[in-house]
Amino acid sequence: MSDFKPKTLFEKIWDAHVVAQPPGGPTVLYIDLHLIHEVTSPQAFEGLRRRGLKVRRPDRTFATMDHGIPTHDRSLPIVDELAAKQIAALERNCAENGITLFGIRQGADKQGIVHVIGPELGLTQPGKTIVCGDSHTATHGAFGALGFGIGTSEVEMVLATQCLLQRKPKTMNVRVEGKLQKGVTAKDIILAIIAKYGVGVGTGYVFEYTGDVIRRLSMEERMTICNMSIEGGSRAGLIAPDDTTFEFLYGREFAPKGAEWDRAVEAWRKLPSDPDAPYDATIELDASTLEPMITYGTNPGMGMPITGRVPDPDKLGDTSQRAALQKALAYMNLQPNQPLLGHPIDVVFIGSCTNSRISDLREAARLLKGRRVKEGVRVIVVPGSTQVKRQAEREGLHEIFINAGAEWREAGCSMCIAMNGDELQPGQYCVSTSNRNFEGRQGKGGRTFLASPLTAAACALTGVITDVRTLLN
Ligand code: SF4
Repeated sequence: MSDFKPKTLFEKIWDAHVVAQPPGGPTVLYIDLHLIHEVTSPQAFEGLRRRGLKVRRPDRTFATMDHGIPTHDRSLPIVDELAAKQIAALERNCAENGITLFGIRQGADKQGIVHVIGPELGLTQPGKTIVCGDSHTATHGAFGALGFGIGTSEVEMVLATQCLLQRKPKTMNVRVEGKLQKGVTAKDIILAIIAKYGVGVGTGYVFEYTGDVIRRLSMEERMTICNMSIEGGSRAGLIAPDDTTFEFLYGREFAPKGAEWDRAVEAWRKLPSDPDAPYDATIELDASTLEPMITYGTNPGMGMPITGRVPDPDKLGDTSQRAALQKALAYMNLQPNQPLLGHPIDVVFIGSCTNSRISDLREAARLLKGRRVKEGVRVIVVPGSTQVKRQAEREGLHEIFINAGAEWREAGCSMCIAMNGDELQPGQYCVSTSNRNFEGRQGKGGRTFLASPLTAAACALTGVITDVRTLLN
């Protein structure tokens, strides 16, 4: 009798990285790739210094600057004192420890948001364990890698040991079947999943996204989906690697080359979940009926189809949910049952690790080409990396944005976290392609509607919440 036990993609990666499993304790997990940035690493390096420790694997550690980096002219001094200090500390720490840095002065042509440059450079590969001091590390799961965010003390642990203590999560199959309608994108799929199942559905689980819709998505679309796994409560979200994955990675700077590439692909082809592998839970979404999505509240689960109406707290039976919705609507200054279509907006932000890749910019530019954004609406377009920026400029996308009246910026997180003056004024409404709509996330008193790049571009043109399908030929 065969003792073959079918495994999920997650279990295959996890099992291959267990260094030790003390009885009853957390697993000691080996980490293949550690991505660091300026915000969560300074204290970790200080900790190493205090303990007289060195970085164990500088060759498996890569750094970039994204959260606090200005997206205006880089030749100007950095005005934000904290950001300037963090950026200087990262430069010093990388130089002292032999870590490759993609920063302002050094490696500037490869600088960008950490979750954009990892895949772009081919550092992100199937089967790897990848960590970063940022919760959207789940993005890398689009390649069939186990990527998750860690805290500052864990950054220090990985720098010192290249290992991490982790409790094994359960697995959840997130199956998306059907056929996407015109104007409906990967961002709408993930917003719909979170709206349907809530921000806590993935707590204690790792998502694996499956189904024919997922298989048909490009790598960039898959990254958008996995990026927001954390907004569904899961620290990681995986998609099985396939030919789409291998085509994306082939030839990238840090991807294996020659015979090594062939060996890698052979190994990667064994990663997808075995046909009968059991998941601990399954949830489903029929994508055929999806409309473009938009959020109305102050967590990413408070989302609805764009033609919908804001829900009424009085119709909620659960008292804590009712109170949360009442508070969110008060903050957003929205009324129960009102439609969002036609609601005026002040700002549009196209960027962030969710939607700042070249295909996102192409989508937005496709709509803005030859048109002007509504007078009085500020539109900021921030590419996810310097390479994305250069590619966009080669294609002339920057001219489309500038001619439409939008601001064209350097790569960074920008208005996703309201840094360096890229922020909303109190009371302003912003349609944002980022991933979080918490109170004050984009500036004190600022109000965020999360949406896809297509929807954001449509709203930029009209100055109100707009169903992009009315503008598509
Ligand atoms: S773009 Fe936003 S969510 Fe993504 S890494 Fe930067 S701050 Fe975090």
